[in-house]
Amino acid sequence: MQLPKSRRRQKLREKKCQYPGCGKIFFGIHISKYCPEHRQDRYRIRKRTKPEDVNIKNQTFKHNYTEVVTMVMNCALEGCDHQFEVKIYPRQYIYPKYCPEHRNEYKRVRHLQVIGREDLIEQMKLEGESFELESAITTGAHSEDLDVIEDVA
Ligand SMILES: [Zn+2]
Ligand SMILES: [Zn+2]
Repeated sequence: MQLPKSRRRQKLREKKCQYPGCGKIFFGIHISKYCPEHRQDRYRIRKRTKPEDVNIKNQTFKHNYTEVVTMVMNCALEGCDHQFEVKIYPRQYIYPKYCPEHRNEYKRVRHLQVIGREDLIEQMKLEGESFELESAITTGAHSEDLDVIEDVA
């Protein structure tokens, strides 16, 4: 491990890495949150990329595109026929599965109430739990593939 070159100028203190599951002690300035390894771009934790969000609000879309393409997808919500455009990026496989309006859980529940599918609301909640358990096991090694493009429109 290399110590930062700025160690003489900036006060370094013992910090504990905030990356989930790491907790390594490192020396950093007061705003440092992650150890040198987890400060790398591929470990960057983006807003709202908790595992349960990845699985519930998004879908895995396997593709071999090597450049950015725009695709039209159908909202995955029962009874919604909205379509939305998604930009497909190379080596990026997680994409929103609901139209922009239904990326909000509250609105999905409202919509299902309106069309009288209380059963699907229940199912949605149950799936939420099982996905959470499953993703706790399957994330980790592949976390670099789980970056999520928020609000692509
Ligand atoms: Zn770390
Ligand atoms: Zn929708």
